[in-house]
Amino acid sequence: MKSIAEASQIIKPVSVTDGAGVKIKRSIGLNPDYFDPFLMLDEFGSENKDDYIAGFPPHPHRGIETVTYMLAGDFEHKDSLGSTGRMCAGDVQWMKTGSGVIHSEMPLMKEGKLHGFQLWINMHSYLKMAKPEYLHLDSKEINHYADPEKSVKVIAGRFEDINGAISNHNVEPVYFDISLTKGNKFCFLLSPEKNSFVYLYEGEIKVGHKDNERLKGSTLIILSKGETLQVEAVENAKFLLISGRPINEEIVRGGPFVMNTREEILEAIQDYQNGTFIK
Ligand code: MN
Repeated sequence: MKSIAEASQIIKPVSVTDGAGVKIKRSIGLNPDYFDPFLMLDEFGSENKDDYIAGFPPHPHRGIETVTYMLAGDFEHKDSLGSTGRMCAGDVQWMKTGSGVIHSEMPLMKEGKLHGFQLWINMHSYLKMAKPEYLHLDSKEINHYADPEKSVKVIAGRFEDINGAISNHNVEPVYFDISLTKGNKFCFLLSPEKNSFVYLYEGEIKVGHKDNERLKGSTLIILSKGETLQVEAVENAKFLLISGRPINEEIVRGGPFVMNTREEILEAIQDYQNGTFIK
């Protein structure tokens, strides 16, 4: 008998302001503080330009991966590697900051709807000072599974016979964006060694077999370690399923830097102040 993944924690994200005044809904990074290997999960979404127009002017990162996934709106990304990229609806940017990246993330629209997610994934200590790398996935390059009940956008991992674009990754991530019509079920076999969560962003769902409080609107659902995941759409629903192998190392945070010791954080701050941050 396979073990069942149930909702072990149900968390409503908190509204916070980040960058130069962008309103976001943060769950991981606040509550829970850390869900190894996931350091932070933000949902940004607004139809009011004042909530996003100031964007994220140049800022550094070290020791993490940032995964940005846009559902609506356009962002321009510029970084210290000399790359400039435009992110449009459906695109993903998977950045491994390694030893350090200084970048800006600025909305390109003056009005209209902006909606997306940014996930931070921790890096193993042996990778934290590696050369920065970043991967831009155009929505056309991201494979979908579709049947009359659901569609599954496979950003990382594998669903049915569809492979995600991210491979050979040390935490073996799963990152799906799922759209499920009312009354139908989404089933998936998780690896019980990984930490997994569902992030509902539209509609209403039931997770697992136990009765829970109603899961409606933006909600983080931390899953218990189990193999069989079942999500049922009470109303038409859209949600992310994200899973990864825990790193099991001590971490020390210093704003945009996440390292293993206090000394490494001080070194990152010094490097940034001295202009020796970019290796
Ligand atoms: Mn950033």
